[in-house]
Amino acid sequence: MRVDNRKVVIVGCGFVGMSYAYAMVNQGVCDELVLIDIDKKRAEGEAMDLNHGMAFAPTHMKIKAGDYGDCKDADIVMIAAGVGQKPGESRIALLGRNAKIFEGIVSETIKAGFEGIFLVATNPVDIMTNVVIKLSGFPKHRVIGSGTTLDTARLRFVLGQYFGIDPRNVHAYVIGEHGDSEFVPWSQAQLSTKSIKSVCREHPERFSFEEVRRLGEDVKHAAYKIIEAKRATYYGIGMSLTRITKAIFGDEHSVLTVSAYLRGEYGISGVCIGIPCIIGRKGIVENLCLELETEEIEKLRSSCDFLVDTARQLDIGTVKS
Ligand code: NAD
Repeated sequence: MRVDNRKVVIVGCGFVGMSYAYAMVNQGVCDELVLIDIDKKRAEGEAMDLNHGMAFAPTHMKIKAGDYGDCKDADIVMIAAGVGQKPGESRIALLGRNAKIFEGIVSETIKAGFEGIFLVATNPVDIMTNVVIKLSGFPKHRVIGSGTTLDTARLRFVLGQYFGIDPRNVHAYVIGEHGDSEFVPWSQAQLSTKSIKSVCREHPERFSFEEVRRLGEDVKHAAYKIIEAKRATYYGIGMSLTRITKAIFGDEHSVLTVSAYLRGEYGISGVCIGIPCIIGRKGIVENLCLELETEEIEKLRSSCDFLVDTARQLDIGTVKS
Protein backbone atom coordinates (compact mmCIF):
# COMPACT_ATOMS: atom_id res chain seq x y z
CA MET A 1 0.00 0.00 0.00
CA ARG A 2 1.35 3.43 -0.93
CA VAL A 3 0.80 6.01 1.76
CA ASP A 4 1.08 9.61 0.64
CA ASN A 5 1.89 12.20 3.23
CA ARG A 6 1.23 15.71 2.03
CA LYS A 7 3.58 17.85 4.09
CA VAL A 8 3.64 21.63 4.25
CA VAL A 9 6.09 23.80 6.18
CA ILE A 10 5.11 27.37 6.98
CA VAL A 11 7.93 29.85 7.60
CA GLY A 12 6.54 32.96 9.28
CA CYS A 13 3.68 32.37 11.69
CA GLY A 14 2.19 35.85 11.73
CA PHE A 15 -1.21 36.93 10.45
CA VAL A 16 -0.69 35.59 6.93
CA GLY A 17 1.08 32.35 7.86
CA MET A 18 -1.52 31.47 10.47
CA SER A 19 -4.51 32.45 8.31
CA TYR A 20 -3.11 30.02 5.75
CA ALA A 21 -2.63 27.37 8.45
CA TYR A 22 -6.18 27.89 9.72
CA ALA A 23 -7.67 27.61 6.22
CA MET A 24 -5.52 24.51 5.53
CA VAL A 25 -6.77 22.83 8.72
CA ASN A 26 -10.39 23.71 8.09
CA GLN A 27 -10.25 22.49 4.49
CA GLY A 28 -8.16 19.40 5.33
CA VAL A 29 -5.63 20.14 2.58
CA CYS A 30 -2.55 18.33 3.91
CA ASP A 31 -1.54 15.57 6.32
CA GLU A 32 1.31 17.30 8.09
CA LEU A 33 1.79 20.96 8.90
CA VAL A 34 5.01 22.30 10.43
CA LEU A 35 5.30 25.82 11.79
CA ILE A 36 8.60 27.73 11.82
CA ASP A 37 9.09 31.25 13.11
CA ILE A 38 12.07 33.19 14.36
CA ASP A 39 9.97 33.52 17.49
CA LYS A 40 9.94 29.81 18.42
CA LYS A 41 7.59 30.32 21.33
CA ARG A 42 5.05 31.88 19.02
CA ALA A 43 5.22 28.90 16.63
CA GLU A 44 4.75 26.54 19.58
CA GLY A 45 1.75 28.48 20.85
CA GLU A 46 0.18 28.54 17.38
CA ALA A 47 0.69 24.77 16.95
CA MET A 48 -0.94 24.12 20.33
CA ASP A 49 -3.87 26.38 19.49
CA LEU A 50 -4.48 24.71 16.10
CA ASN A 51 -4.11 21.22 17.58
CA HIS A 52 -6.84 22.01 20.09
CA GLY A 53 -9.26 22.40 17.20
CA MET A 54 -8.37 19.01 15.64
CA ALA A 55 -11.38 17.33 17.26
CA PHE A 56 -13.54 19.44 14.94
CA ALA A 57 -11.37 19.33 11.80
CA PRO A 58 -12.61 17.60 8.64
CA THR A 59 -9.55 15.31 8.45
CA HIS A 60 -6.71 14.26 10.70
CA MET A 61 -3.59 16.38 10.46
CA LYS A 62 -0.26 16.30 12.31
CA ILE A 63 0.63 19.82 13.41
CA LYS A 64 3.79 20.87 15.23
CA ALA A 65 6.28 23.67 15.66
CA GLY A 66 9.49 22.57 13.96
CA ASP A 67 12.77 23.65 12.44
CA TYR A 68 14.38 23.73 9.00
CA GLY A 69 15.24 20.02 9.21
CA ASP A 70 11.51 19.47 8.64
CA CYS A 71 11.83 20.88 5.12
CA LYS A 72 13.78 17.79 3.98
CA ASP A 73 10.72 15.74 3.03
CA ALA A 74 8.21 18.60 2.71
CA ASP A 75 6.21 19.02 -0.49
CA ILE A 76 5.68 22.74 -0.04
CA VAL A 77 7.47 25.42 1.95
CA MET A 78 5.25 28.47 2.20
CA ILE A 79 7.10 31.66 3.17
CA ALA A 80 5.18 34.47 4.85
CA ALA A 81 8.02 35.65 7.05
CA GLY A 82 8.87 39.28 7.09
CA VAL A 83 7.45 42.55 8.08
CA GLY A 84 3.93 43.68 7.27
CA GLN A 85 2.99 46.89 5.48
CA LYS A 86 2.58 49.91 7.71
CA PRO A 87 -0.35 52.25 6.99
CA GLY A 88 0.50 54.20 3.84
CA GLU A 89 3.67 52.20 3.17
CA SER A 90 4.06 50.81 -0.35
CA ARG A 91 4.87 47.13 -0.78
CA ILE A 92 8.06 48.05 -2.56
CA ALA A 93 9.31 49.91 0.52
CA LEU A 94 9.33 46.60 2.35
CA LEU A 95 11.72 45.03 -0.12
CA GLY A 96 15.14 45.68 1.39
CA ARG A 97 14.16 44.35 4.82
CA ASN A 98 12.41 41.26 3.52
CA ALA A 99 15.12 40.32 0.99
CA LYS A 100 17.63 40.15 3.83
CA ILE A 101 15.39 37.84 5.86
CA PHE A 102 14.96 35.56 2.82
CA GLU A 103 18.69 34.92 2.46
CA GLY A 104 18.68 33.03 5.75
CA ILE A 105 15.37 31.24 5.21
CA VAL A 106 16.10 29.94 1.72
CA SER A 107 19.64 28.80 2.53
CA GLU A 108 18.45 26.91 5.64
CA THR A 109 15.65 25.27 3.65
CA ILE A 110 17.99 24.16 0.86
CA LYS A 111 20.59 22.97 3.37
CA ALA A 112 17.94 20.63 4.81
CA GLY A 113 17.60 18.95 1.39
CA PHE A 114 14.23 20.41 0.38
CA GLU A 115 13.14 19.33 -3.10
CA GLY A 116 9.57 20.52 -3.26
CA ILE A 117 7.79 23.72 -4.23
CA PHE A 118 8.32 27.15 -2.70
CA LEU A 119 5.15 29.18 -2.27
CA VAL A 120 5.87 32.84 -1.54
CA ALA A 121 3.53 35.36 0.07
CA THR A 122 5.87 37.97 1.56
CA ASN A 123 5.65 41.39 -0.09
CA PRO A 124 6.60 42.75 -2.53
CA VAL A 125 5.65 39.26 -3.62
CA ASP A 126 6.75 39.37 -7.28
CA ILE A 127 10.25 40.49 -6.39
CA MET A 128 10.44 38.10 -3.43
CA THR A 129 9.50 35.25 -5.80
CA ASN A 130 12.38 36.26 -8.05
CA VAL A 131 14.64 36.46 -5.01
CA VAL A 132 13.72 32.87 -4.04
CA ILE A 133 14.47 31.63 -7.57
CA LYS A 134 17.82 33.37 -7.42
CA LEU A 135 18.74 32.17 -3.92
CA SER A 136 17.52 28.59 -4.35
CA GLY A 137 18.63 27.92 -7.92
CA PHE A 138 15.40 25.89 -8.27
CA PRO A 139 13.75 25.42 -11.65
CA LYS A 140 11.37 28.35 -12.09
CA HIS A 141 8.22 26.22 -12.17
CA ARG A 142 8.92 25.16 -8.56
CA VAL A 143 8.83 28.70 -7.18
CA ILE A 144 5.34 30.20 -7.09
CA GLY A 145 4.37 33.61 -5.77
CA SER A 146 0.83 34.32 -4.63
CA GLY A 147 0.88 37.07 -7.30
CA THR A 148 -2.52 38.55 -8.06
CA THR A 149 -4.50 35.50 -6.89
CA LEU A 150 -6.02 37.53 -4.07
CA ASP A 151 -6.61 40.61 -6.25
CA THR A 152 -8.36 38.42 -8.82
CA ALA A 153 -10.56 36.91 -6.11
CA ARG A 154 -11.42 40.43 -4.92
CA LEU A 155 -12.28 41.46 -8.48
CA ARG A 156 -14.52 38.43 -9.05
CA PHE A 157 -16.29 39.16 -5.77
CA VAL A 158 -17.08 42.82 -6.54
CA LEU A 159 -18.08 42.09 -10.15
CA GLY A 160 -20.28 39.25 -8.92
CA GLN A 161 -21.99 41.68 -6.56
CA TYR A 162 -22.42 44.33 -9.26
CA PHE A 163 -23.87 41.99 -11.88
CA GLY A 164 -25.77 39.82 -9.37
CA ILE A 165 -23.82 36.72 -10.45
CA ASP A 166 -21.97 34.03 -8.50
CA PRO A 167 -18.27 35.11 -8.46
CA ARG A 168 -17.39 31.59 -9.61
CA ASN A 169 -19.08 32.45 -12.93
CA VAL A 170 -17.14 35.70 -13.28
CA HIS A 171 -14.08 35.06 -15.43
CA ALA A 172 -11.85 38.08 -15.10
CA TYR A 173 -8.28 38.57 -13.93
CA VAL A 174 -6.13 41.12 -12.25
CA ILE A 175 -2.64 40.75 -13.73
CA GLY A 176 0.76 42.42 -13.32
CA GLU A 177 2.59 43.42 -10.16
CA HIS A 178 0.74 42.62 -6.92
CA GLY A 179 0.69 46.34 -6.19
CA ASP A 180 -0.01 49.72 -7.64
CA SER A 181 0.71 48.90 -11.31
CA GLU A 182 -1.57 45.86 -11.46
CA PHE A 183 -4.54 46.12 -13.83
CA VAL A 184 -7.56 44.31 -15.28
CA PRO A 185 -7.32 43.33 -18.95
CA TRP A 186 -10.98 44.05 -19.68
CA SER A 187 -10.73 42.51 -23.16
CA GLN A 188 -10.58 39.15 -21.35
CA ALA A 189 -13.35 39.74 -18.74
CA GLN A 190 -16.44 37.59 -19.06
CA LEU A 191 -19.63 36.66 -17.25
CA SER A 192 -20.03 33.01 -18.06
CA THR A 193 -18.88 33.12 -21.72
CA LYS A 194 -20.19 36.60 -22.49
CA SER A 195 -17.86 39.58 -22.49
CA ILE A 196 -18.49 42.12 -19.73
CA LYS A 197 -18.18 44.94 -22.24
CA SER A 198 -21.05 43.43 -24.30
CA VAL A 199 -23.20 42.92 -21.20
CA CYS A 200 -22.78 46.63 -20.35
CA ARG A 201 -23.46 47.68 -23.96
CA GLU A 202 -26.62 45.60 -24.17
CA HIS A 203 -28.04 46.71 -20.80
CA PRO A 204 -27.17 50.41 -20.45
CA GLU A 205 -30.16 50.91 -18.15
CA ARG A 206 -28.66 48.50 -15.59
CA PHE A 207 -24.91 48.44 -16.10
CA SER A 208 -22.20 50.94 -16.95
CA PHE A 209 -18.74 49.95 -18.11
CA GLU A 210 -17.37 53.12 -16.47
CA GLU A 211 -18.70 51.88 -13.14
CA VAL A 212 -17.21 48.43 -13.78
CA ARG A 213 -13.86 50.03 -14.47
CA ARG A 214 -14.11 51.99 -11.23
CA LEU A 215 -14.73 48.73 -9.36
CA GLY A 216 -11.53 47.37 -10.91
CA GLU A 217 -9.64 50.43 -9.64
CA ASP A 218 -11.12 49.95 -6.15
CA VAL A 219 -9.72 46.40 -6.07
CA LYS A 220 -6.27 47.88 -6.54
CA HIS A 221 -6.69 49.99 -3.42
CA ALA A 222 -8.44 47.34 -1.31
CA ALA A 223 -5.32 46.33 0.63
CA TYR A 224 -4.62 49.95 1.66
CA LYS A 225 -8.22 50.32 2.86
CA ILE A 226 -8.11 47.13 4.91
CA ILE A 227 -4.72 47.99 6.42
CA GLU A 228 -6.01 51.43 7.39
CA ALA A 229 -9.01 49.84 9.08
CA LYS A 230 -7.42 46.81 10.78
CA ARG A 231 -3.66 47.15 10.26
CA ALA A 232 -3.15 44.02 8.10
CA THR A 233 -4.87 41.79 5.55
CA TYR A 234 -4.75 38.05 6.08
CA TYR A 235 -7.93 35.97 5.66
CA GLY A 236 -8.16 36.52 1.90
CA ILE A 237 -4.48 35.76 1.29
CA GLY A 238 -4.66 32.75 3.62
CA MET A 239 -7.49 31.34 1.50
CA SER A 240 -5.73 32.22 -1.77
CA LEU A 241 -2.59 30.35 -0.67
CA THR A 242 -4.75 27.40 0.38
CA ARG A 243 -6.40 27.43 -3.05
CA ILE A 244 -2.97 27.30 -4.74
CA THR A 245 -1.90 24.46 -2.41
CA LYS A 246 -5.05 22.47 -3.26
CA ALA A 247 -4.34 22.92 -6.96
CA ILE A 248 -0.82 21.55 -6.41
CA PHE A 249 -1.75 18.54 -4.26
CA GLY A 250 -4.77 17.69 -6.44
CA ASP A 251 -2.71 18.09 -9.65
CA GLU A 252 -5.76 20.11 -10.70
CA HIS A 253 -4.32 22.04 -13.61
CA SER A 254 -6.40 24.95 -12.34
CA VAL A 255 -5.80 28.41 -13.76
CA LEU A 256 -4.70 30.87 -11.07
CA THR A 257 -3.03 34.27 -11.39
CA VAL A 258 0.16 33.44 -9.52
CA SER A 259 3.47 35.23 -9.79
CA ALA A 260 5.38 33.29 -12.43
CA TYR A 261 8.66 33.74 -14.25
CA LEU A 262 8.17 35.04 -17.79
CA ARG A 263 10.20 33.54 -20.64
CA GLY A 264 9.26 35.66 -23.59
CA GLU A 265 5.48 35.70 -23.09
CA TYR A 266 4.12 39.08 -24.23
CA GLY A 267 7.70 39.83 -25.32
CA ILE A 268 8.90 39.89 -21.68
CA SER A 269 11.60 37.76 -20.04
CA GLY A 270 13.43 37.41 -16.75
CA VAL A 271 10.84 38.75 -14.32
CA CYS A 272 8.19 37.19 -12.04
CA ILE A 273 4.75 38.76 -12.27
CA GLY A 274 1.07 37.86 -11.76
CA ILE A 275 -0.35 36.15 -14.84
CA PRO A 276 -2.79 33.27 -15.31
CA CYS A 277 -0.94 29.95 -14.99
CA ILE A 278 -1.89 26.30 -15.01
CA ILE A 279 -1.07 24.87 -11.58
CA GLY A 280 -0.52 21.19 -10.87
CA ARG A 281 1.57 18.71 -8.89
CA LYS A 282 4.83 19.91 -10.39
CA GLY A 283 4.07 23.56 -9.67
CA ILE A 284 3.57 25.89 -12.61
CA VAL A 285 2.71 23.56 -15.49
CA GLU A 286 2.40 26.38 -18.00
CA ASN A 287 2.05 30.15 -18.23
CA LEU A 288 -1.24 30.75 -20.02
CA CYS A 289 -0.74 33.40 -22.66
CA LEU A 290 -3.81 35.63 -23.04
CA GLU A 291 -4.73 37.40 -26.26
CA LEU A 292 -4.19 40.83 -24.78
CA GLU A 293 -4.86 44.05 -26.65
CA THR A 294 -1.84 46.21 -27.53
CA GLU A 295 -2.62 48.71 -24.77
CA GLU A 296 -2.89 45.88 -22.22
CA ILE A 297 0.47 44.44 -23.26
CA GLU A 298 1.94 47.93 -22.77
CA LYS A 299 0.49 48.03 -19.24
CA LEU A 300 1.97 44.63 -18.45
CA ARG A 301 5.32 45.72 -19.81
CA SER A 302 5.38 48.88 -17.71
CA SER A 303 4.38 46.86 -14.63
CA CYS A 304 7.35 44.55 -15.33
CA ASP A 305 9.65 47.51 -15.93
CA PHE A 306 8.65 48.92 -12.57
CA LEU A 307 9.54 45.64 -10.82
CA VAL A 308 12.85 45.29 -12.64
CA ASP A 309 13.80 48.92 -11.88
CA THR A 310 12.90 48.55 -8.22
CA ALA A 311 14.86 45.32 -7.84
CA ARG A 312 17.81 46.96 -9.56
CA GLN A 313 17.65 50.06 -7.33
CA LEU A 314 17.89 47.84 -4.30
CA ASP A 315 20.66 45.81 -5.91
CA ILE A 316 18.59 42.64 -5.88
CA GLY A 317 18.43 42.15 -9.62
CA THR A 318 16.42 39.55 -11.50
CA VAL A 319 17.33 36.08 -12.72
CA LYS A 320 18.17 35.16 -16.27
CA SER A 321 16.14 32.45 -17.99
P1 NAD B 1 3.42 39.45 10.65
O1 NAD B 1 4.34 40.48 11.17
O2 NAD B 1 2.15 39.19 11.36
O3 NAD B 1 4.18 38.05 10.54
C1 NAD B 1 5.48 37.90 10.07
C2 NAD B 1 6.09 36.75 10.84
O4 NAD B 1 7.38 36.49 10.28
C3 NAD B 1 6.31 37.04 12.33
O5 NAD B 1 5.71 36.02 13.10
C4 NAD B 1 7.82 37.08 12.49
O6 NAD B 1 8.26 36.63 13.75
C5 NAD B 1 8.23 36.14 11.36
N1 NAD B 1 9.61 36.30 10.95
C6 NAD B 1 10.31 37.45 10.79
N2 NAD B 1 11.57 37.15 10.41
C7 NAD B 1 11.65 35.81 10.33
C8 NAD B 1 12.69 34.91 9.99
N3 NAD B 1 13.90 35.35 9.66
N4 NAD B 1 12.42 33.60 10.03
C9 NAD B 1 11.21 33.13 10.37
N5 NAD B 1 10.17 33.94 10.69
C10 NAD B 1 10.41 35.26 10.68
O7 NAD B 1 3.16 39.85 9.13
P2 NAD B 1 1.96 39.33 8.22
O8 NAD B 1 0.81 40.27 8.33
O9 NAD B 1 1.74 37.88 8.48
O10 NAD B 1 2.58 39.54 6.75
C11 NAD B 1 3.62 38.71 6.29
C12 NAD B 1 4.01 39.10 4.88
O11 NAD B 1 2.94 38.81 3.98
C13 NAD B 1 4.28 40.61 4.71
O12 NAD B 1 5.37 40.80 3.84
C14 NAD B 1 3.00 41.12 4.07
O13 NAD B 1 3.18 42.33 3.36
C15 NAD B 1 2.68 39.96 3.18
N6 NAD B 1 1.30 39.90 2.64
C16 NAD B 1 1.18 39.44 1.37
C17 NAD B 1 -0.07 39.38 0.76
C18 NAD B 1 -0.17 38.88 -0.66
O14 NAD B 1 -1.22 39.00 -1.31
N7 NAD B 1 0.89 38.30 -1.18
C19 NAD B 1 -1.21 39.78 1.48
C20 NAD B 1 -1.05 40.21 2.80
C21 NAD B 1 0.22 40.30 3.36
